[in-house]
Amino acid sequence: MLQVDNITVRYGQLTALRGLSLGMSEGETLFVTGPNGAGKSTLLKAIAGVVAPADGGIRLNEQTISGKAPETIARLGLSMVPEGRHVFGSLTIEENLRLGAGMRGNAARAADDLATVYDIFPMLKERRDNPAGVLSGGQQQMLVIGRALMTDPKLIAIDEPSLGLAPKIIDQVYETLTRLRDERGLSLLIVEQSTTRAVMAGGRMVMLRSGEVVLEGDARELSKSDALNAAYFG
Ligand code: ATP
Repeated sequence: MLQVDNITVRYGQLTALRGLSLGMSEGETLFVTGPNGAGKSTLLKAIAGVVAPADGGIRLNEQTISGKAPETIARLGLSMVPEGRHVFGSLTIEENLRLGAGMRGNAARAADDLATVYDIFPMLKERRDNPAGVLSGGQQQMLVIGRALMTDPKLIAIDEPSLGLAPKIIDQVYETLTRLRDERGLSLLIVEQSTTRAVMAGGRMVMLRSGEVVLEGDARELSKSDALNAAYFG
């Protein structure tokens, strides 16, 4: 469903991604791992249309999305959850969720999507009139995932969902993501700096270093050899 073909992304003189290619199929979970500055966030930003590749192309469900605006890409089925759990602390939980539907411009559809998100996250429904700022880190992560679901995506691209959370809370976030994949057929593109979660969850992993893919394969298989550490540390 997603095909990233030989993309190069530059920030001025700095090349953040160098001819990077990867693909993923429907219902798949793909982990993108790698050390600081490897280009993981840039990859997500390029897919979501936040930064434009200087070269190469990106296709989502057979349509070219590289060069398109983020709102257009969202309408085609991709929702991105950026790093850092950005919630509007003084707005209520429901107002935060409604912001996710902003671009859809269809009140009935937004109400349906809101009901779906409340079904998935009863905790958000119970607290919908409270300011989002009172939520814990883990609850805020659920809120930003809920907000991403407001556009009824086929693919969620999520940047470091475990950053700064306690291990037990990270487990809950991953249980939620796995449930969304299994029950709603969502595809998941998950960026994590460390390879630990990819190995725990199983499935395919792509490792980046200095803007290039240095390792790709089944995370658990790779963890049985020295390949993971060797590729990570170069
Ligand atoms: P981290 O795990 O630290 O978030 P990352 O793998 O996500 O790292 P990126 O954030 O994509 O890496 O950064 C890749 C490279 O691009 C780094 O060298 C970074 O300093 C640089 N970079 C990222 N954003 C910008 C920007 N807006 N302007 C200039 N350089 C940038």
